Amino acid sequence: MNKERVKHLIEVFGNYSFEGEGINRIAYTNVETAAKHHFMRLCMAQGMTVRMDAIGNVIARKDGLKDGLPVIAMGSHLDSVYDGGLFDGLVGVIGGLEVVTSLNEQGIITNHPIEIIVFACEESSRFGVSTIGSKVMTNQLSAKELLSLKDRNEISFEDALSSQNLSIEKIDEVVRNKSELKAFIELHIEQGPILEKEQLEIGVVTSIAAPARYQIKVLGEAAHSGTTPMEYRKDALAAASELVLKIESLGIKESVYSTVATVGVLSIKPGGMNIIPGEALLQVDIRGIDMESRNRVTEELIETIFLLKNQRNVEIEIIKLSEEQSVPMDEYYIDLLLMLAEKNNFKVKKMSSGAGHDVMNMAKLFKSAMIFVPSKYGISHNPKEYTCIQEIMKGISLMKDFLLAVDKE
Ligand SMILES: [Zn+2]
Repeated sequence: MNKERVKHLIEVFGNYSFEGEGINRIAYTNVETAAKHHFMRLCMAQGMTVRMDAIGNVIARKDGLKDGLPVIAMGSHLDSVYDGGLFDGLVGVIGGLEVVTSLNEQGIITNHPIEIIVFACEESSRFGVSTIGSKVMTNQLSAKELLSLKDRNEISFEDALSSQNLSIEKIDEVVRNKSELKAFIELHIEQGPILEKEQLEIGVVTSIAAPARYQIKVLGEAAHSGTTPMEYRKDALAAASELVLKIESLGIKESVYSTVATVGVLSIKPGGMNIIPGEALLQVDIRGIDMESRNRVTEELIETIFLLKNQRNVEIEIIKLSEEQSVPMDEYYIDLLLMLAEKNNFKVKKMSSGAGHDVMNMAKLFKSAMIFVPSKYGISHNPKEYTCIQEIMKGISLMKDFLLAVDKE
């Protein structure tokens, strides 16, 4: 393992960014493609064969000693959000390369083939859909669904792909078979404050939390704020405010189960200092790893809505936007990672991931694992995102130990 080499590569890839604050390496832009090409060259220099599939996933492969064995794969992503940070995604990609480089330096050839996968379009920033590359690879997203997507500049997904010489017509070829991979592991920054707050070095992920998302519309009556007495009002914002606080308290009540509940959007109409709000629109994200706990939040929310309608004489409609299931990591690999981390005297804990990652799609087909390294102040998707090189190296070294252990199974 070479700390300086990893540090240098992180800096090099930080230069693949459009103008703006922090990192702007948006999916299917020239700068992101250039970063992928650079990564492919680095992999080739380590004796790997490289290819880019039709959706833009990069797959770098190093043959093992024995023919016909399934692959052990490491992977993450190189695309970023707008004005994002240096470490999200990049750590897992550079980490994979460092594992292969260090094995080469030691003259170790594994029994199984090794792959590094750079997933395409992990961030939802451009098309509103996250982890597109891994979803297509595991047959969870079709060309038909992708064809309807447009970015903020009205560029269709298909046009974005073809601008990078990729083709939606061939995406059937991206899908991989269950038997191809023996194991998949993703190394990633935590993007939350837990490891840093608890002064830990490694998080072994047990499960990826899944969001349930709702849109709530409160319909009151817009009226003059000066002439409408308090008792005649149907104030949509006041009703919505009760909902916001209720949703927060439900999240707090269920927090022992790692459930969280957030109102991230609240817009009101007509919106004037002298007008009682007639309409309020809320968007709610409830997520967790314990689906029963998450359901309790939803059920109580629906009860609250029912009561509030009568109390405040407003109409409230709730629409479910999406509801996903949490994804557990492989139990045997969780224990293996804990054991390997303890052997290295890393300060480690088991934890769930509140954010989605490519591993959640891979885990549906392949035995999968995930390692977190700390994020300074828990900040992510932000130019201030930071993880020190010592912590990154611990994560990479654990990923290497994992790969060697799985190879010997
Ligand atoms: Zn990421």
